[in-house]
Amino acid sequence: MTVHFVDTHAHICSESFRDDFEEMIRRTEEAHVDRIMIITLSNEETKRAVEFAQRDPYKYTVAAGIFPEDVKDLTDAYYEEFMQTASMKEVSVIGEIGLDYYWEKDPGVRALQRELFVRQIELARKLNKPIAVHSRDAMQDTFDIMKEHHWKGLMHCFAGSKEMAAEFTKLGYYIALGGPVTFKNARHSAEVVTSIDEKYLLTETDCPYMAPVPKRGKRNEPAYIPYIAAKMAELRGVSIEYIADVILRNWDRFLEQCA
Ligand SMILES: [Zn+2]
Repeated sequence: MTVHFVDTHAHICSESFRDDFEEMIRRTEEAHVDRIMIITLSNEETKRAVEFAQRDPYKYTVAAGIFPEDVKDLTDAYYEEFMQTASMKEVSVIGEIGLDYYWEKDPGVRALQRELFVRQIELARKLNKPIAVHSRDAMQDTFDIMKEHHWKGLMHCFAGSKEMAAEFTKLGYYIALGGPVTFKNARHSAEVVTSIDEKYLLTETDCPYMAPVPKRGKRNEPAYIPYIAAKMAELRGVSIEYIADVILRNWDRFLEQCA
């Protein structure tokens, strides 16, 4: 029996894969990572991803968003164009959007990030598309916004506690985990994997970043998803076949929420 895998967060339309794109995709086929959500952070990237989704809508899902740090350079003209791109029927998810206080220390800019986050959640609601949320060193503010402006979506690269994960799943949000679950010091991630209701669990690479052990430190790619799924299976005391099947069904259910 072949085991099939899902990568719910892959920046494969970024510069990092320019030189070996075809080989990288071939490796996803060999590894049976046959569902990939392409996260795009510019209108150019989105247009490229849309072409893949048109050719193979089962394999590729497209997410488009404005990353929190990009709020500093955001113009009205760009936002206008982003709203057009986000409305395309091939764009299924709005993301990644959210808050990043790790890179941003200025309280004024952090406030702008919160404003942009809310604005994109409201756009997602208008378009009836779920959100993919980035949150770094900003868990409480992220949660408060996602509770007040409650919508459907997922938490990407979840780095909070198991208690926090439970609060998010109570609101119906999915929890995606990647490379860090394979890291030795990743106590939080391991606890989240073992404690949450399996129906909210998703796998992701966040490639080109966050490569899992044994590829840690290298460029990450979707073909490494099996390492992450294997670790999740081990932590939960189930087979990799079982966990991969649960995640595949979760992904189908998540996508059913898309317009
Ligand atoms: Zn990302």
